[in-house]
Amino acid sequence: MSDTATLTRPAAQKVEHFDVLVVGAGISGVGGAYHLTKQCPGKSFVVLESQESFGGTWLTHRYPGIRSDSDLYTFGYRFKPWTSAPIATADEIRRYMAEVIEENDLGRHIRYGHKIASARWSSAANRWTLEATRADTGETVRFTANFLWMCQGYYRHEEGYTPEWAGMDDFQGRIVHPQTWPDDLDYRGKKVVVIGSGATAATLIPAIAADTAHVTMLQRSPTFFRTGRNAIAIADELRQLEVAEEWIHEIVRRKILHDQAVFTRRSFEEPETVKKELLSAVRGHLGDDYDIDTHFTPTYRPWRQRIAFVPDGDVFEGIRSGKASVVTDEIERFTGTGIQLKSGQHLDADIVVTATGFNLNVLGDIAFEIDDKPLVFSDTVTYRGMMFTGVPNMAWVFGYFRASWTLRADLVADFVCTLLNRMGEKQARRVTVALRPEDKDMKLLPWIDPENFNPGYLMRGMHLLPKRGDKPEWQHNQDYWAEKNELPAIDLDDKAFVYA
Ligand SMILES: Cc1cc2nc3c(=O)[nH]c(=O)nc-3n(C[C@H](O)[C@H](O)[C@H](O)COP(=O)(O)OP(=O)(O)OC[C@H]3O[C@@H](n4cnc5c(N)ncnc54)[C@H](O)[C@@H]3O)c2cc1C
Repeated sequence: MSDTATLTRPAAQKVEHFDVLVVGAGISGVGGAYHLTKQCPGKSFVVLESQESFGGTWLTHRYPGIRSDSDLYTFGYRFKPWTSAPIATADEIRRYMAEVIEENDLGRHIRYGHKIASARWSSAANRWTLEATRADTGETVRFTANFLWMCQGYYRHEEGYTPEWAGMDDFQGRIVHPQTWPDDLDYRGKKVVVIGSGATAATLIPAIAADTAHVTMLQRSPTFFRTGRNAIAIADELRQLEVAEEWIHEIVRRKILHDQAVFTRRSFEEPETVKKELLSAVRGHLGDDYDIDTHFTPTYRPWRQRIAFVPDGDVFEGIRSGKASVVTDEIERFTGTGIQLKSGQHLDADIVVTATGFNLNVLGDIAFEIDDKPLVFSDTVTYRGMMFTGVPNMAWVFGYFRASWTLRADLVADFVCTLLNRMGEKQARRVTVALRPEDKDMKLLPWIDPENFNPGYLMRGMHLLPKRGDKPEWQHNQDYWAEKNELPAIDLDDKAFVYA
């Protein structure tokens, strides 16, 4: 039953109540809103977003060349066909999201410029009370909600991660982080050093190389890349045959997911062969004389960190043309004119871009309390990376590392909507996951096994993340192929779900 009453507090402050409150209007939150309208049409809901518009990651990042590193057939929602080249710019992704919002009349549910500061659960009232600050008036506004759907992403949007290096204050040029790219940054004719060699560096460098005097990618250690055409042959062929876009979307998704599953399996079973294949593609762009061993041969096996897709090998073409170069070394200190490396080499720079990653932000910087006690998230155990022991009426979206994030956002949305409907059938006002008697002696482990996946932002923030157990129910499985069957089959009457 919908519960949309507007409550009046003693201080005459208006408190709006919703059945569901969605945190964030990125790809997960907008997807959540869509699924709520389709699967839980009777529920009232609101999406609160701190930024001025939708898009999340694709609004925050405005550096030149910003694009996806996975294909949009699977990064797009399962319900809305993607109809163009697989690797897309942030603008294209936001246009696609705008269509989803427009076509499904979701805009009326979203409040922009609402930064949530606190969320308090009361077991007496069986509801959450949230406080948010409005960007336009600075005023604090209150909401209550029966259920909280956390779509806040995994990193702090306001600022990226920049390590502290000696001498940074001495540097006469400009230091910028791609996450907070200044609109007025003029890199034309300048010497630019990009620190880092992940997807961001690989995107930024080809976008700016032609306009700079020179751009250097400075990395401590190399990264794996995949390269190929920014096109999907089967999609183009089906389009020529005038097959409906809904069909093309589904067929291409299956094809991509199948190929990715094979690639992921092979990178565990025959890592050396996969490594050779990846390196030989790079060699194809850079030629036999290039020092691939030093600059493009990581020490870890493929897929222990995310592998960025480089469309048409553009970053390698930049290197080949001489406009860009790679230096693999360590920073000794910044100087007035650039960066002094441990090898003795000095890199002259007018601008240094620190493409050094994110600050993990697991709960949207929201102060959580459960019945007046601060929530220590790292003390909880995760139920399949979606719910947490001792945290009632809350679900959380965390996507895949090795496959598109949205594949999981769609699956989690189905789970949340089914759970909400089930609570309605049971007339339950509260659901909490709890370890069962048979889980009592279960070994508790860190959120993710570093042997499996170990990017810096996760390693830096592991102590903030919930624990996992050694049973499938109590882990965040990174395998879409298993989860696409397992999540819809979850038994909501299992003892792990405690209703009240
Ligand atoms: C540059 C870059 C490229 C990427 N490319 C890919 C890719 O190609 N494929 C892929 O699968 N993944 C990619 N990722 C990972 C990507 O972040 C996710 O795939 C996806 O966009 C996350 O969507 P989200 O909606 O869950 O979170 P986000 O995009 O992070 O959005 C969360 C939203 O919640 C809001 N929010 C947070 N806290 C609060 C609060 N307290 N109050 C109100 N609002 C709040 C934020 O403002 C934000 O708008 C990329 C990440 C980056 C940074």
